Amino acid sequence: MDVIEEVEAILGYGDTCNHCLGRFFGRRSFGLTNEERGRALRIAHEITANEPHQEPAPESCWICGGELSRTDAWAARVVEAMQGIEFETFLIGTRVPPLMAESEEMVWSDLSLRDPEPLKAEMNREVGKAVSELSGKVADLQKPDVVAILDLANETVEIQVNPVFFAGRYLKYERGIPQTHWDCRACRGAGCERCNFTGKQYADSVEELIGRPVIEAFDAEGAVLHGAGREDIDARMLGSGRPFVMEVETPRKRSVDLAALEAEINRSAEGRVAVHLTGWADRKMVQSLKSDKAHKKYRILVEIDGPVTSDEFRTALDQLKGVTIRQRTPTRVSHRRADRVRERQVIDIQCTGTQDDRYWVEVVGEAGLYIKELVSGDGGRTRPSLAQILGRTASVVSLDVVQVRTTNEQR
Ligand SMILES: [Zn+2]
Ligand SMILES: [Zn+2]
Repeated sequence: MDVIEEVEAILGYGDTCNHCLGRFFGRRSFGLTNEERGRALRIAHEITANEPHQEPAPESCWICGGELSRTDAWAARVVEAMQGIEFETFLIGTRVPPLMAESEEMVWSDLSLRDPEPLKAEMNREVGKAVSELSGKVADLQKPDVVAILDLANETVEIQVNPVFFAGRYLKYERGIPQTHWDCRACRGAGCERCNFTGKQYADSVEELIGRPVIEAFDAEGAVLHGAGREDIDARMLGSGRPFVMEVETPRKRSVDLAALEAEINRSAEGRVAVHLTGWADRKMVQSLKSDKAHKKYRILVEIDGPVTSDEFRTALDQLKGVTIRQRTPTRVSHRRADRVRERQVIDIQCTGTQDDRYWVEVVGEAGLYIKELVSGDGGRTRPSLAQILGRTASVVSLDVVQVRTTNEQR
């Protein structure tokens, strides 16, 4: 079949608007809209058949019902739905009713058409052009700030606001604060007497202490903290802090001054948590942060049961230096983690002083090394351990993370 014969066959299915007619040949010839393509093919067909010209009524189109002639109205709906949302870039998506898609696909396969374009693609492009003109914003297929979904069947527009990410480091000065919020163990987040109907096991988390001013500043629906690892609840995070990326969910504002935000977080977290914000980030940075095997430096206070001389203590520490430790999942976390053996290296360990018969120790460990068990031995589940080498009971009285060095910083 040549093109004119194909047009003849297509028109045989029913009234077809110029958009839909042109779209069956959408990938042939450049610099034309499908409507222009459709009109030209219709006229060429009419001249070939020597028939009078008939301009079709778009709403009687058997495929789109005139939807492709209403792109300006759709664009106006999109702009209205985006009112009050700050964005620079956008993307249009279309939910096409199954019957519409099946109609055009039937013709593609009946006539073995080689160059058709789907309805969805034309709708996205044409409404996108119109939204650009109305709003002065640009379409971005890769990383749009907002996505507008046209629901053709329901005649509605759904707006999805993509998250904003920023990076920084946090410090935790107070023990007893988890990194992220935990659901109440009794009610699993539903709210009960135990948790004072908050649904939370702990009143605050690092995530919430940072997140509250963030949600306010971005007029957002939520803020998720992605940390480079996490410290125990009872450990402080000191030194230069722990790298994190914060994901701001559904932000209605995006142009936030990070320096002012940092000051506001530090003011509202009242010395319990502090941040230094380093700049804007993206989802890729979250992934590299999560997969990063950061070395951690800890400052711990160790208590030994029974008398040990300072020399004995230091000699025992030396036997752990550079050694790979085999650790079965610690008893204290075995209720939520699978029982496995992990091997992690003690990169450095040394005694830095004493306090009331206790020892200050600094340990640099590979990511994932369990420090409390390195000292206590966890009933033989961690080997070797300080307790095992000394032949005495040993325990960590307090623990602070003083440095988190990411892979980039280790190079
Ligand atoms: Zn149509
Ligand atoms: Zn509860």
